[in-house]
Amino acid sequence: MTSSSALLSVNRRSGFSLFFTSCQLLVKHSVKMISTKAVIIGAGAAGIAAACRLLERGMNDFVVLEAEDRIGGRVHSVDFCGNIVDLGAHWVHGEKGNVVFELLKDLNILQTSVTSITEDNVMFVDSSGKPVAPEKLAKIYGILSEIEQNSTSGLKNFWGSVGDYFTREFQRQITQPGLISAEDLPLAYSLLEWYSKFEKSIDGSDNWFQTSGKGLTEYWECEGNQLWAWKHGGYRNILDVLMKKYPNPDQELPLKERLQLSKEVTKIEWDSLPNEMRGKVIVSCLDGSQYIADHVIVTVSLGVLKAQSKAMFSPPLPAYKMNAIKGLSIGTVNKVYMKFSHQWWPEDCSGFGFLWNAEDKAGSETSGGDEQNWLKEVFMFNTVDNHPLCLCGWIVGPEARKMELMSDTEVCDSLMSLLKRFLGKHFKVPYPEKILRSSWTANPHFRGSYSFRSLDTERYGTNAASLAKPISNTDGNQVLLFAGEATHDHYYSTVHGAIETGWREADRILNETRLFKKSSL
Ligand SMILES: Cc1cc2nc3c(=O)[nH]c(=O)nc-3n(C[C@H](O)[C@H](O)[C@H](O)COP(=O)(O)OP(=O)(O)OC[C@H]3O[C@@H](n4cnc5c(N)ncnc54)[C@H](O)[C@@H]3O)c2cc1C
Repeated sequence: MTSSSALLSVNRRSGFSLFFTSCQLLVKHSVKMISTKAVIIGAGAAGIAAACRLLERGMNDFVVLEAEDRIGGRVHSVDFCGNIVDLGAHWVHGEKGNVVFELLKDLNILQTSVTSITEDNVMFVDSSGKPVAPEKLAKIYGILSEIEQNSTSGLKNFWGSVGDYFTREFQRQITQPGLISAEDLPLAYSLLEWYSKFEKSIDGSDNWFQTSGKGLTEYWECEGNQLWAWKHGGYRNILDVLMKKYPNPDQELPLKERLQLSKEVTKIEWDSLPNEMRGKVIVSCLDGSQYIADHVIVTVSLGVLKAQSKAMFSPPLPAYKMNAIKGLSIGTVNKVYMKFSHQWWPEDCSGFGFLWNAEDKAGSETSGGDEQNWLKEVFMFNTVDNHPLCLCGWIVGPEARKMELMSDTEVCDSLMSLLKRFLGKHFKVPYPEKILRSSWTANPHFRGSYSFRSLDTERYGTNAASLAKPISNTDGNQVLLFAGEATHDHYYSTVHGAIETGWREADRILNETRLFKKSSL
């Protein structure tokens, strides 16, 4: 444990009348607690950023409690057949204003991703195995791209979902006389459907009729290349850079000593404590350990807050905070990496887009029965940076959650049937040697992939600022602080957003504890 943290022995019996919830435990025996200035819950990008900021500014009296046996959270770079792949965060999106890009730009560690999702290098194929003619694709994709480009201004005053907006605009465009022939209309609609899946993979929503149109305009895209990838090592590099382990390992911040892995927090008692603990926060873990602190930064995902906040916080969180937890949304985006014995796709192809013809989409028997219907949501396979023998399949929404519950063999067999159906006429697709996939919603430490603004967010009249707002105890001290991607007003759903929120809350503590060294800013 931290050198500066002290072991505090507290007899909670005296607090019996004031503090009711823990009294069964208290009356039996004294509880040993670890006393520290601050507890950071979660060692994802936000938690690591907060911890590093505290250390950099000279505060080392804190602990980071992480439920998993690793750091990084939704930044999860793993070895797959000798190369690193990312199960979570994938690309650095943009440059200007993106703190990840800013931290990395001079380290010669980023490269433009091989995955460029444009109609020029993704091969679109329909469910009969027929590739879409390039000129037809260019025309229809062009319409969709134009709607996308104009959407920032179009959605600002639009009451409805992103899906409502796109379908309305698409309908308006393709019914212009002479633009799309009657023969090509079915193709236009299946491309629109594909695009809806692509869009929801960006938003993280279950479907685009769920994503708030106005809400989407809260997201700010950082100018510059949207698809920066890693020359080596994957997204995990950003953690090493934050911890100053990279590029000079001898400058590494002493975070390891503050970090407690496999520590799942189950309870946060933040007010109405017995007199001798007045003003403190008590954090209890599944393994029975307890921490007593002045401040707690909660960085767990919105999904975890949705599932746990009622049981986790005592006293209950204020109504506005619960409203934000309920009203903001989080969905499921999963990836499946498949490693093949050889590269069977063309060198200039950066992926495949799968378009379901209306009749194939309707018929479950032609696609392998209802059990296989989830496959229709696997809308794209991309090539993978630094992994020439790998493809990465993307799946979003309820079907992604369904896939999480299946075995690797079931998933692999089903994906093979999909690849053969769409591509078997043109390529001899070998059975993959290995697969690796994410399960972001089934994992109780995440319960989702990333947050978005839904029509529920509008209905609840809430926003990220309400989720981010610190909570003060009865003495007026800000004891409960909230960070994590979902608390960012504009860069939610990203790593750069998560990092900024970690810094924001660390600075709040530093300001309050007067340790903030203006000179080092
Ligand atoms: C499939 C996928 C693709 C993505 N692609 C991109 C991308 O290309 N670019 C991009 O910028 N972003 C991307 N993201 C989003 C990005 O990964 C997240 O926004 C960011 O990593 C979130 O960081 P965080 O610290 O807010 O949350 P998390 O990473 O979720 O960190 C929270 C931590 O809290 C821990 N925790 C949970 N419950 C408890 C508990 N009870 N006690 C203790 N610890 C607990 C968790 O284990 C976790 O480590 C992607 C995410 C996914 C899932």
